[in-house]
Amino acid sequence: MIEIKNISKWYGQFQVLKDCSTKVDKGDVMVICGPSGSGKSTLIKTVNGLEPVQQGQIIVDGTSVGEKTTDLPALRARIGMVFQNFELFPHLSVRDNLTLGQIKVLGRSADEATARGLQYLDRVGLLAQQDKFPGQLSGGQQQRVAIARALSMDPIAMLFDEPTSALDPEMINEVLDVMVGLAQEGMTMMVVTHEMGFARKVANRVVFMDQGAILEDTAKDEFFQAPKTERARDFLARII
Ligand code: ATP
Ligand code: MG
Repeated sequence: MIEIKNISKWYGQFQVLKDCSTKVDKGDVMVICGPSGSGKSTLIKTVNGLEPVQQGQIIVDGTSVGEKTTDLPALRARIGMVFQNFELFPHLSVRDNLTLGQIKVLGRSADEATARGLQYLDRVGLLAQQDKFPGQLSGGQQQRVAIARALSMDPIAMLFDEPTSALDPEMINEVLDVMVGLAQEGMTMMVVTHEMGFARKVANRVVFMDQGAILEDTAKDEFFQAPKTERARDFLARII
């Protein structure tokens, strides 16, 4: 469903992605890990065209992301993305955050968008908060709204970039629980995270990056039991 073929990217002289290739099939839960600055965020953002690449190709559900003729807004509407810092619209109520994209991008009626948005808000346990503004919610609640908002768009896949790393420890699990539920329902997911408990529980694949390169791309058990590279072993030893 998502194919990344030999992509390279430079910021000026600095090569941030080095000939990276990987593939995500329908229903895969891929966890991407690696040291700070290794290119994880950059890699995940290439999938919906937020970061263009100079070499290689990314194909999402048959569409080549970098092609000039590709309708990027349409593609992005089909891929949910959740970032570290929630990124809800601060001036809109929770309900309006949930419906705006559905109305503007998918052309749904306000009633339809509201029904759908509230269905997902209920699912993340926040139906009672629909009239609040993002600033009135905790970080964990905001992140769950962000997930509900992404799901309201009926995405074919979800991308997460360190969704729990800006949260206080007691809020991490409420967000991870929602993500575990999604994974268990068969959602196709690419997740940048250092939460190895999450990886062990629901990932089927683990990608390890270092200095812009994909050093490991393996089944989960293999990654945890027998990482192939010294760098991955060091990394695991430090974070587990
Ligand atoms: P972290 O774990 O800290 O989030 P990361 O693995 O997500 O790190 P990236 O954010 O993808 O890493 O960044 C990879 C490298 O590219 C870093 O060295 C970073 O400084 C550099 N970089 C990122 N964005 C830019 C930019 N717009 N211009 C120049 N360099 C950049
Ligand atoms: Mg990052």
